[in-house]
Amino acid sequence: MASEAFKLTYATMFNPPEELHTRFDQALTKVKANLGKEHGMIIDGKERFSTEKFEDRSPSNTDIVLGVFQKGTAQDAADAIAAARKAFPTWSHTPWQERVKLIRAAADLMDQRIFEMGAALAMEVGKNRTEALGDVAETADLFRYACLQMQKNKGFVTRMGRDPLVGYKATNISVLRPYGVWLVISPFNFPAALTGGPTGAALVTGNPVVIKPATDTPWTARLIAECLRDAGVPDGVFNYVTGPGSTLGQALIEHPDVCGVTFTGSYDVGMKIFRDFAKGKWVRPTILELGGKNPAIVSRHADLESAAVGIVRSAFGLQGQKCSACSRILVEAPVYDKLVSRLVELTEKLTIGDPIDRAVYMGPVVNRNSYRDFQNFCEEINQEGKILTGGKVLVEGAYAKGYFCAPTLAELPLRHRLWKHEMFVPISTLARVDSLAEAMQIANSVDYGLTAGFYGSRKETEWFFDQIEAGVTYANRPQGATTGAWPGFQPFGGWKGSGSSGKNAGGVHYVQLYMHEQIHTLITKT
Ligand code: NDP
Repeated sequence: MASEAFKLTYATMFNPPEELHTRFDQALTKVKANLGKEHGMIIDGKERFSTEKFEDRSPSNTDIVLGVFQKGTAQDAADAIAAARKAFPTWSHTPWQERVKLIRAAADLMDQRIFEMGAALAMEVGKNRTEALGDVAETADLFRYACLQMQKNKGFVTRMGRDPLVGYKATNISVLRPYGVWLVISPFNFPAALTGGPTGAALVTGNPVVIKPATDTPWTARLIAECLRDAGVPDGVFNYVTGPGSTLGQALIEHPDVCGVTFTGSYDVGMKIFRDFAKGKWVRPTILELGGKNPAIVSRHADLESAAVGIVRSAFGLQGQKCSACSRILVEAPVYDKLVSRLVELTEKLTIGDPIDRAVYMGPVVNRNSYRDFQNFCEEINQEGKILTGGKVLVEGAYAKGYFCAPTLAELPLRHRLWKHEMFVPISTLARVDSLAEAMQIANSVDYGLTAGFYGSRKETEWFFDQIEAGVTYANRPQGATTGAWPGFQPFGGWKGSGSSGKNAGGVHYVQLYMHEQIHTLITKT
C-alpha cells in the first residue's frame, strides 16, 4: 500500500492505519456498483468472446454474480499461443531495460488500483480485506523484485574467463536468454500474486505469456492482465484465457509451441502436467509450485503466547486455504495442555463472516467442493479423533448463502491418513510428542516440504533450521507460524512434493529459471 509510514505485508497487516479501511470501503462501493459485467479473454491485444460462458459467483453469497467470463476452447488456446509466438522475436530482442520499464509501470498501476483490485479479490476468493490487499501489493512487489534482479545482474550478461591462446584473443560472454512462449496456470487462493508473480518474471526476462487462471478466480487475473495492457505491454506479449483446466488448460499443456510452464496448484494436477508436458520433443522447463502439509513444532521452552497467536493465524488465515497453512501442530508434552487451551480460546474468538466487512478475519471456503470436503473430513475425524473446537459448517442467518465453516482444531491418532493429506480447509490436527526429535521425525514424514514453523529456545531454532525438510522456515514468529512470506524477505518455494525447481519465487535465484544460457566466444587475431 502506498503510504509513507506503512508498508503492507502479510506480517504487518494486522493493525493497518485507518486510511486503509476508508479507502477500501470507498473502492468497495465503486466495485459493487459494477458487478455482473461480461469480461472477454485477451488474445493478441483483442477482446475474445466465446459461445459458452460461465458465471463467477461470490463464495460469501452465491446469489451474487460478480462477472460473466468466457469458457475458452482448444482453438482459443491455440490462438493465444500463436499470438505469443508471433510476439516472441520482438519481445525477446527488446532491450531488457525497456522491459523492466514496462513491468515497473504495470506494478505502479497495481499500486494505484490496489483498493479496487483488493475489493474484487475479497469478493471473488472470500479473502479478508487486509489479505486481499496484501495479495495485490505482493504482486506489485514480485514484479519489482524481478525487475531489480534484471538490473542487479545487468540483464544477465557476464564476462567469463579466457583460454590462454597464443596469437589470438578470446572473448567469452555468458548470456541468459528467454525460452519463448511461457504458460502460467494459477490457483484460486492467491489469484493476483500467483498469476502475476510468474507472469512478471517470464515477461521481464523476454518470454511472452499465456495466462490461464483458476475457474473460481478469473476476475482478479483479468485485472492483472489489464494492468499489463494499460502499462503498454505490447499486444500478443501477454494473453489471458479463461475456462476449465481439464479442457482449455489441458489443450495449453499439450500444445507443442509452449516452451515453458509455471504451474501453481495441487500436487495431483501438477504431477499430471509434469508428465503430460514431458511428452514433447525435448525437455522443457516445468516450474511446479504445489501443495503443503505444513507443521508447527512447539518446544517445552517456547513462548507459548507467540506460538498460539502464530499458529492460529497460519491455520485459519484464508480459511486454511493457503499452500502454507499450518495444518499439523506438534507440541512437547509438558506444554501441550496449556498451549492447546490457548489455541482453542483464540480460535473461538475469530470473527467469521463476509470478508469485505472490516471486523471479519475468516470468510467462506471457495466453492461447494471445498465445503463438502470440510464436512467429509470432519465426519472422518469424528470417527477416530476428537474435535476440540469447530467441526461444523455455519448455515444460519448471514451464513446461509455462503460456504462458511467453523475453524476446527482436532486431535487425531498419528497413524490417521489425514496427517499426510492436504485438506485445504480450516482444519488443523494436533498431537502431543515426547521429544523434539519425535516431532521432527513426524514433521518430515510427509511427501510435502513447503513451509514449517518452530517455537523454542535460540539453540533449538538452529537445530530446527538444520533438520527440517522445507523450503520456507520460520522460528518464534507470532505473525504466522508457517504463513506470510513476502518477496525479497522470505522467497517462497517448496522441497519434495511441494515444488520442482528448488529455487524460491521472490528470491535471488528465481528469474534465472525463465532463461537458458548461451555462451558467446569471439576470437580475434592479435
Ligand atoms: P488445482 O490444482 O485444482 O488448479 C490449479 C490450476 O490448474 C487451475 O487454474 C485449474 O483450472 C488448472 N488445471 C486443472 N486441471 C488442469 C489440467 N489438466 N491442465 C492444465 N491446467 C489444469 O488447484 P487449486 O486452484 O484448487 O489451488 C489449491 C492448490 O494449490 C493447493 O494444493 C495448494 O497447496 C496449491 N498452492 C501451492 C502454492 C505454492 O506456492 N506451492 C501456492 C498456492 C496454492 P480450473 O480451476 O479451471 O480447474
